[in-house]
Amino acid sequence: MVDADFLMRKFKEEEDDLIKLTQELVKIPSVNPPGDMTEITGFLRDYFNDAGLNYEAYEPEKGVITLYLKSGRDEEHDFLHFNGHIDVVPIGERSKWTVDPFGGEIIDGYLYGRGSSDMKAGVAATIKVFEILTRYWEGLPRRIGLSLVPDEETGGRLGTRYLIDKVGIRPKYVVIGEPSTSFRLEIGEKGVYNITIRVEGFPAHASLSPHVGDNAIMKVLKIGDEIYKLSEKTVDVPEKLKDVVENSGFIVAQYFKKPSLSRLYKSLSINVGMIRGGDKINIVPSWAEIDVDIRIPHGWTKDDVRKMVEDILAKYDGSAKIISDRGENPSYTDPDSPIIQSILEASKDVMGFEVTKHLVAGATDGRFFRKVGSDAVIYGPGEPGRIHSYDERVSVDDIKKVGEVLLKASYNLISSNPF
Ligand SMILES: [Zn+2]
Repeated sequence: MVDADFLMRKFKEEEDDLIKLTQELVKIPSVNPPGDMTEITGFLRDYFNDAGLNYEAYEPEKGVITLYLKSGRDEEHDFLHFNGHIDVVPIGERSKWTVDPFGGEIIDGYLYGRGSSDMKAGVAATIKVFEILTRYWEGLPRRIGLSLVPDEETGGRLGTRYLIDKVGIRPKYVVIGEPSTSFRLEIGEKGVYNITIRVEGFPAHASLSPHVGDNAIMKVLKIGDEIYKLSEKTVDVPEKLKDVVENSGFIVAQYFKKPSLSRLYKSLSINVGMIRGGDKINIVPSWAEIDVDIRIPHGWTKDDVRKMVEDILAKYDGSAKIISDRGENPSYTDPDSPIIQSILEASKDVMGFEVTKHLVAGATDGRFFRKVGSDAVIYGPGEPGRIHSYDERVSVDDIKKVGEVLLKASYNLISSNPF
């Protein structure tokens, strides 16, 4: 059996290469949209060829390319799988950047550029971990996998979801290298539920309003108000998540200096994001619609939320209805899962303290993996505050730390679960 210290030593010897790889990736503008990944996957193919790593490429649409690598023991599915996206969002206004967005410059210990945090550093770190495990662990007793996907920033349909639905990957454990920072481990996410509500009214001449006619816009505003009040309700969170829910709320409330945010992970997040309605200024509107984005805490489902909204609409005599809805239930990985325990243990060894288990309010690719039974977590380098913004950056030290923790965690997980 390979020795953990040996692997860690090899990793540290190659840490400068890891930083260089991150810089090289940032220098390739893999912006999505438009989302053509030909150049960056070309670079990665060369890199993998030089490193002696085999890969498969999937291109369901021109330029939308996923690379998938596996190594280790020959078994049906990946025991441990790393996932990351290689696309980045557009840079916004160039003049708001104080550095070249595609320069990959390092200034005072930070590596700058679009995608540095989200998530080329995470991609580079997981590539390096995969490489070290493959090259230096002789007789690696489990199969490991690495997928680099092209379209996370536009929904993941042709990337992660393609791998799961069409290629049929079913990893047991998954680490997604999205920017959580080296000291936070994200184990679950709120559900997302999007609905459109349509309200019917009755038209009349404006000069007779409000005495005659039934104003659909005024009704839909009232309904919006009532739906917002649902955010005051508190869910009964699953026993296993109680600590994590409290902790995550406390941290986010501190970060935004908003005490009410401490309830974020035990209540609904609600946004009326779009409104349409009416036909003309001098007509009492006969129709109105709102699109509402609701994020669901652990303990409730889409059905629970639909019921809450329908109870409100019931007061409007059939004139208000949900006309479309879609979404996903909240998901999480059991805090006792071996992948989480391995990362906690490894972080203690590498950094001297345990990473904090955390939830996220937004949706991640983790939900697709959890749906098919994988234990998925998010752990990657980054500075979350600058993601999708100007002067995006990542601490060089954070990249190395995450890599070391993930290598050690992989060793812990695989060596204590030989096939
Ligand atoms: Zn991302």
